[in-house]
Amino acid sequence: MTTIYEARKVVTMNPSRPLATHVAVWDGRILGAGSLDELAGWGAYNLDRTFADKVLMPGLVEGHSHVAEGVQWRFVYCGYFDRTDPDGTTWPGLRSIEEVLARLSAANAGLSDPKRPLTGWALDPIYFDNRRITREDLDRVTTTRPIGIMHASGHIMNVNTRALELAGLLRAGINHPGIPLGSDGLPTGEMKGPEAMTPLGPHVGLDRSLLASDEPGLRAFARLCVRKGVTTAADLANLLPRPAVEMMLRVCGEGNFPARIVSLRIARDISPAELIDRVVELRKSSSDRLRLGIVKVIVDGSIQGFSARLKPPGYYNGAPNGLWYVAPEQLREIFERALAAGIQVHSHTNGDQATELVLDTLELALRKSPSPDHRFTLQHCQLANAAQFRRMRSLGMCVNLFPNHHFYWGDQHYALTVGPERAERMNACATALASGVPMAIHSDAPVTPLGPLFTAWCAVNRVTASGRVLGMQERISVADALRTITLGAAYTLGLDGEVGSIECGKHADFAVLEDDPTEIGGERLKDVRIWGTVQGGRIFAAATI
Ligand SMILES: [Zn+2]
Repeated sequence: MTTIYEARKVVTMNPSRPLATHVAVWDGRILGAGSLDELAGWGAYNLDRTFADKVLMPGLVEGHSHVAEGVQWRFVYCGYFDRTDPDGTTWPGLRSIEEVLARLSAANAGLSDPKRPLTGWALDPIYFDNRRITREDLDRVTTTRPIGIMHASGHIMNVNTRALELAGLLRAGINHPGIPLGSDGLPTGEMKGPEAMTPLGPHVGLDRSLLASDEPGLRAFARLCVRKGVTTAADLANLLPRPAVEMMLRVCGEGNFPARIVSLRIARDISPAELIDRVVELRKSSSDRLRLGIVKVIVDGSIQGFSARLKPPGYYNGAPNGLWYVAPEQLREIFERALAAGIQVHSHTNGDQATELVLDTLELALRKSPSPDHRFTLQHCQLANAAQFRRMRSLGMCVNLFPNHHFYWGDQHYALTVGPERAERMNACATALASGVPMAIHSDAPVTPLGPLFTAWCAVNRVTASGRVLGMQERISVADALRTITLGAAYTLGLDGEVGSIECGKHADFAVLEDDPTEIGGERLKDVRIWGTVQGGRIFAAATI
């Protein structure tokens, strides 16, 4: 039987018919958006007035997040800003290292098993005048239990002395760019980059397999999606071992699982040839709510962690250039094999030198395998300049920018990392659109909180945490921002034919809103109240999820 939903307003994002009052749904798909009279022509129907006073938008699409956020909430939240967990509890932000240590000590006191590690997440020393946390700091919490705290960027970890001991790394003579040493010649406990973090992970509860999430973590992540109006979310860096894929297929397939997850296979622990074979195989096992078959490559680190690769003149504060996470030769082989197999690759670049490497590498690979509509996407790509956006356009690339950075780290980018001029061009949304590069914007949750309407607010206003407008010229309109968090993100995932607008034939995926994002004004976009979602024609209320 057809259901026709009545709404205060339906914002369709379909350019041929942008507004409607009703939407008809049959078997999880949209029959059409229009007036009740028009939709009655589809035959017998139930009129559902649940949303009669709500605004419907296409279900929001988060183009870059990580389902591991659902797992991280089991650990101690060490972030600077208040943040809401999947169950709706808000954790106050921690404003000093002392406050971080106090929350860790409280959690430590609650652990009975002396062997169990104490794990934290979302730490960011940049808010503490970049004073780095050392193992001696963490030893004040405990010297008997290993501690590991993941930074907000996900690219750096701090550990205590016990954790270094267990990993066999409490020794002199270590020579690794990701393992800084103290004046005693021993590691300080800050581990930068995957190579340095990996040996510690198993000892501090931050094993790499976490990237694959787990059953309760996946369900928790999906609850967050409902709270934020998200019906499709990319899980951008998953190792996707077979047992995890089976689990994800099963959980996503449950009748009450409220989101579509697009999980990318990260290029790690596997040769380029094996990677592409595996991803071709994964693509075949996709289901409606678990989409597989895209590759993710990480090219450099993070700007605020000074591990991103910058072109000259480099970091504003004189910090040495960052780290390459992939060898150029390996990147070339991945691109060539992916293009030949028709597999899409998303490349994480933060610094402009990393972006340049991807552009150069793809240009050469495309000469070997010309591929119209390859949709290779630059992820973050925060520091790209105008010339690089023009090259993206010429090469047929998409970009997924990270405007949340303006709010969370804009002040630091201005004062410390890249300086005033480049801070203003960071995440240059207006230049991307003017250059004709298909664009998405994202949260990179758990790096910043999931919430496409908040991300849209960041792109529209470019306001930093201290209230500075950073890059007035790169602000975009509300209409552009709303298209970007729906059709824009869907395009980068190859899903714009299925989701991203409310129109005939697409999945019945809606964000159900109390306020009208097209009327509330750009300054208040982040305050739009979210009632919940409809996903595949199934209704999910945030209040009861
Ligand atoms: Zn990410």
